Amino acid sequence: MRFRGGHNVLLKGRPDSAIKVMPEPKVLYMPLRSERFTFSDILVKDGQKVSGGDILAKDPDNYEVPLLAPRAGTVRLEAVENHIVIEDVAQLEERADIAEEEMLHIEKEMGAGGIKRYKLLSLGAWQFFYDAFTGQLPDPLGTPQAIVVSTLSLEPFLARGDVQLHRRLLNFTRGLEQLQSLLEYQPIYLGMPNIRSEFANLIRNQIRGYAWVKMLEKPLVYPYDDFALLARRLELRSSNGPVWAVRTEGVLAADRALTETKPCTVRILSIGGTGVSQPTHLKAIPGYPIRRIRDQYVFEPSARVLNGGIFTGKILPEETLGIDVECRGITVLPEPEEREFLGFIRPGWDRDSYSSSFLSAMRNDFRERLTTALRGEGRPCVACNYCEEVCPAGIMPYLIHKYLYANLIEEAEQARIDLCVECGLCSYVCPSKIDLRTQFVEAKDLIAKEKEEIRQEQLRQEEARKREEEARKQAEENVE
Ligand code: SF4
Ligand code: SF4
Repeated sequence: MRFRGGHNVLLKGRPDSAIKVMPEPKVLYMPLRSERFTFSDILVKDGQKVSGGDILAKDPDNYEVPLLAPRAGTVRLEAVENHIVIEDVAQLEERADIAEEEMLHIEKEMGAGGIKRYKLLSLGAWQFFYDAFTGQLPDPLGTPQAIVVSTLSLEPFLARGDVQLHRRLLNFTRGLEQLQSLLEYQPIYLGMPNIRSEFANLIRNQIRGYAWVKMLEKPLVYPYDDFALLARRLELRSSNGPVWAVRTEGVLAADRALTETKPCTVRILSIGGTGVSQPTHLKAIPGYPIRRIRDQYVFEPSARVLNGGIFTGKILPEETLGIDVECRGITVLPEPEEREFLGFIRPGWDRDSYSSSFLSAMRNDFRERLTTALRGEGRPCVACNYCEEVCPAGIMPYLIHKYLYANLIEEAEQARIDLCVECGLCSYVCPSKIDLRTQFVEAKDLIAKEKEEIRQEQLRQEEARKREEEARKQAEENVE
């Protein structure tokens, strides 16, 4: 499969390549939920003193992935709903909260490879790993058919791989070696931009001697950094086992956990968008107060704050007070309160659009100042086909939209809604303002839930059938 579709949007508010270190906080607000995790198994008590690196809670549904204390301090459990608050924060030496007894047991059962996997999980590095096909956390004890590493983030405005790698190229290559030591013969595919930039050349030179790393050059077009697309491009099939997928920060975390046996509690995230005074990168820890970041960087009084990028980020709820463990960037867009006066007759010299209906089509490429304004109401599909042109998954979004609109779920499945990688490009280019992505995400969730219910029902019926069979046999034996 070749790369198809995709589209690059040029927007103002791109973070620069500097990394600003946020001042040390006095209080941390650790959200108990993030995109994939729910840390419901709380392991600390109210008032307990913790050190940096201690395990505060675990997610029982995700291989017990831990929520680590990024700093020393005193735990408060009841202070803010759905958060663990750490007060009197102090930046003392972090420690690896790993149980020696469990290590010995794992070494006996699984050898040195088992210990490495245990360290990745308990030191917070495993949180950076994804199953390329599902986007979920992979089984740390499983064996992948391959690892896909992506050095790029193409969605505006997530933390950039080149910034995260700044002065850490050696850590990156050491991290790759650590990942390779978890495998037997399976390859590591390194997704790189197909450009001759200094950064790309540096990495190419650095890994030249690694026969087990295979380069996958890809165009700098959104969303070719998507793991499912990369796996499809490599013709890896889910029937042959999981594919682990990890970005630059994950390779660096693997190096920290396995080479230095240190907890991975620092993140480099972006703050970008047209509502930000100085779009840049921040070095911050989970739990860092969002209010302090807003006060320093957000100048728009009325702004939509997203946890993530413009296409796939989610609105950050007011009640979330701290950075969560999966945050890769904060995007801020101005939220206009008033409707543009006679906006519908403006020729659109300053409006970028996939179609060429605005005067801007006569300009050279320019960066648009994007806001959350839709510039008009939603309308029915006009069959312009733009959504199909940009769709990287090779499906027909307008057709699936029509099926879903008519509640024809089976037909939507036959049109391969499952291949949608939820990139959001179709919503972006749609001149009728149809939020196709949201519709597809909801439909996929619904289909997955229905399939799970059917599976559970089949299991129940199978168990009931077995019980009946056993009871019948027992009855027959009693008669005899
Ligand atoms: S969100 Fe799905 S349907 Fe829309 S462009 Fe992306 S992959 Fe295609
Ligand atoms: S881009 Fe929008 S209007 Fe055009 S075909 Fe797709 S859904 Fe219809």
